[in-house]
Amino acid sequence: MSKPIVATASLAGCFGCHMSILDIDERILKLIELVEFNKSPFDDIKTFTKPCDIGIIEGGCCNSENVANLRLFRKNCRILISCGECATMGGLPALRNGIPLRECLEEAYMNSPTVAEADRLIPNDEELPVILDKVYPCHEIVKIDTFLPGCPPSADLIWEALMALLEGRPIAPGYELIKFD
Ligand code: SF4
Repeated sequence: MSKPIVATASLAGCFGCHMSILDIDERILKLIELVEFNKSPFDDIKTFTKPCDIGIIEGGCCNSENVANLRLFRKNCRILISCGECATMGGLPALRNGIPLRECLEEAYMNSPTVAEADRLIPNDEELPVILDKVYPCHEIVKIDTFLPGCPPSADLIWEALMALLEGRPIAPGYELIKFD
């Protein structure tokens, strides 16, 4: 019997959520018995080669490339998980949302004391992704089926969510998995 297929991506995230997935430690041996990975940094498969059962998204959308990748995941994954604060709420990158984009770019590329006079230029190569007016959580771009809170969500919470989805039962994390004090 074919295994359920899982894909993962990091958008505007720090890869901490991916590290947390790996933090399931020896359970990763069980996971690779239970599922097959498709497009993911874990196996370095760059493009979808088949429809997937579960997509795990880390990070929100700060540029056009993030949006395109997220839409690709929505199209190719039956269940889409928004994993971590950046994906579910925008997270740290969304700290710029209260500041006009132009001001952010000028601060980073023109006015910063570490930028040499000769290098003062806001990047505008047409091959670069277009930066969005603000950082969007994933559910504001596509339909999301499951949200996992935390920065990052703990390995145990991610494990519980994956096992529940694979076993076809509701995700029911105990209090210990979703408290943050
Ligand atoms: S939620 Fe936290 S760990 Fe995950 S990508 Fe964002 S900053 Fe990194």
